[in-house]
Amino acid sequence: MSKIIATKAIRGAHTLVGRAEKELLQAIEEKGPDTRVEFPNTAYYLPISHGMLGMRIETLGGLKELLAQAKNLLPPVPDDELWLPYLGNALDAGMAALFADEIIEAVKYTQDPLPYLPELNPDNDHLWLGAANDVILRERGIEFVDGTAPGFAACVGCCPSSEVAVAVARELQEKNLYVFMSAANDGRSMAHQLQEQGIEMGWETRLVPFGDDVTATVHALGFATRAALSFGGAQPGDFDRVLRYNKNRVFAFVLAFGPVDDLKHAQAAGAINFGFPTIAETDIGQILPTGVCTYEHVVSPIAPAKIVAKAIEVRGLKVTVSKVPIPVPYGPAFQGERVRAQDTRAELGGSTLPGFEFVTSRGLDEIEDGRIEVLGPDIDDIEPGGKLPVGIWVEVAGREMQTDFEPILERQIHDLINGAHGIFHMGQRDINWIRISKEASDKGFCFKHLGSILHAKLHGEYGKVFDKLQVKIFTREEDVSERLSHVRDVYGQRDARLADMTDESVETFYSCALCQSFAPNHVCIITPERSGLCGSYNWLDGKAAHKINPTGPNQPIPKGAVIDPIKGQWQGVNEFVYNSSHKSLEIFNAYSIIDYPMTSCGCFECISCLLPSTNGIMVVYREFADMTPVGMKFSTLAGMVGGGVQTPGFIGHSKQYIGSRKFILPEGGASRIVWMNSKLKEELAPVLEKIGENAGIDNFYDMIADETVATTEEDVFEFVSKVNHPALSMPALF
Ligand code: SF4
Repeated sequence: MSKIIATKAIRGAHTLVGRAEKELLQAIEEKGPDTRVEFPNTAYYLPISHGMLGMRIETLGGLKELLAQAKNLLPPVPDDELWLPYLGNALDAGMAALFADEIIEAVKYTQDPLPYLPELNPDNDHLWLGAANDVILRERGIEFVDGTAPGFAACVGCCPSSEVAVAVARELQEKNLYVFMSAANDGRSMAHQLQEQGIEMGWETRLVPFGDDVTATVHALGFATRAALSFGGAQPGDFDRVLRYNKNRVFAFVLAFGPVDDLKHAQAAGAINFGFPTIAETDIGQILPTGVCTYEHVVSPIAPAKIVAKAIEVRGLKVTVSKVPIPVPYGPAFQGERVRAQDTRAELGGSTLPGFEFVTSRGLDEIEDGRIEVLGPDIDDIEPGGKLPVGIWVEVAGREMQTDFEPILERQIHDLINGAHGIFHMGQRDINWIRISKEASDKGFCFKHLGSILHAKLHGEYGKVFDKLQVKIFTREEDVSERLSHVRDVYGQRDARLADMTDESVETFYSCALCQSFAPNHVCIITPERSGLCGSYNWLDGKAAHKINPTGPNQPIPKGAVIDPIKGQWQGVNEFVYNSSHKSLEIFNAYSIIDYPMTSCGCFECISCLLPSTNGIMVVYREFADMTPVGMKFSTLAGMVGGGVQTPGFIGHSKQYIGSRKFILPEGGASRIVWMNSKLKEELAPVLEKIGENAGIDNFYDMIADETVATTEEDVFEFVSKVNHPALSMPALF
């Protein structure tokens, strides 16, 4: 612990205990030891001494025992020459300071007139409210328990200006935090600054002016102590439980504005006992190692504009946005809704324009939580029914964030955007497609609101793995295209992480039921060698997603007994699929295209189907809009394959699965491929060459027809006959 900070805190505690003794003895002399002392309307006596020591102080004379406890705790002021471990001493000094504060504040309650207004809100003549009564505690403290208010900021001192004070207060209010104000600097405090600006204060606005004396800071910690006694099941005197409850459940911190003297250092040390760190505007040194607090104990200097964000980060507070701030209704009921072409006001991405959605991690200092930028034309800049490219670039930062979580967050974009009434989202990664209805646009929905949805919902559902999130939405073709190669590289790196794993090497697969909003009976079974149909989820992603959200859509599936290793059938998987398909599927083969194949939702990257006369299969990528050799366009095929039913002869799958050893294994594998649309074929050229090499087929890539040489099944047969495609000599498909 920083010796300088510890020295100041210990010195401050000595001063406060000295002052407490002097004021207590004077009060006893003037009023007598039996004079009643109490904070108003509370069953918790003087809460710090009651919570920490189990004391039930009711008279001035009773305070002497607390004074003795404070003196006992007081460590010597550190020697200039001798370096010792200071943490324990500084914490003891902090607690002694709180005992002294409580004595001084209790004595104030014997004065006439009372220096505090014991009400909910201040009035014109009385700014300071002092200790809260039990009615306030019950009403407000429960908010700390149910999460309505995650905690409080104990603001000491005064901000550089009244405008800054208002900005800080508003930022804290936006985060649902209570603002407890005390400890003026030269007679001026943050509460005075808010008063000057005509800001309404009181418990109802969560801006609570406790008192201008530094000792009034104890009312914040007294409130925290009573919360632990009242809601945390802590017994009076069980200081360990009181402090742990606050560290784990009440997200509070001290914000110190202006000069921080010894007395304020002592308050900070007292707060650290509760796990509440101090973030100071001025340079008071730092205590960075973690220990009593979740993260750092003291951080400084932090500019007022950044102090709230820093405090939230240091305290490990998770921001929640209770309502999605968009002008259309939002909820899971809208997730299956589609927007028809004639009802569309604007379309983003899709098969004809470049697009992507991408989640990436950044440093905590590199992004601003809640910042949403639309870079390029917005909905009002285009004609009704107009189309634009789209790049949704989401940046997240957090101490718990891991690269492995990026694809998990990214895949949520689909469901989250679909939750907005009148907004339709399909696809993922670089095949995303969004339609915004005329009705939604008329209500004021614009592209920025896509970011608002992601900010609110990702924070709400995945906030435990990140602290900050900002969104950039690119709608200029050059901006989207410029970033596409980078995001595709990252998609490739994510897929490559699994390279050496096999289905045999693990005992557990993962499910994905994210697409059940569109296809209620569909569940993807994700194995190391078969990723989810959409290409966004591989086995590692499933594992990470389960870690983030153990009750979410990605559940572990113990494989159980192997029923057929070639078709990919396991007892445990059959049982899981039976239950999660609402008992519509009893047998499920992960690898076969013909025999009880995996079902599809609608998000598959590719569709494979038999071309019977060629004894092979064709594969078409979802962006290919022309007729395929099977006599159907992709959209018609998708209608047939999707919806969560088994369609023998047809499967939806990811691009990555084509290169898997398990790709239609019972039917002979990828060397059955006789046709692919040219764009997919080119993209997968290295994969196809590898497939040929492994199967001992020279020029396999060149043996695959595409739309430039074959548009009908007859054309394909003619082509593969000419090149002597290996499918022709493989066992008959049926
Ligand atoms: S396609 Fe499968 S893996 Fe992808 S999100 Fe839907 S259910 Fe999950």
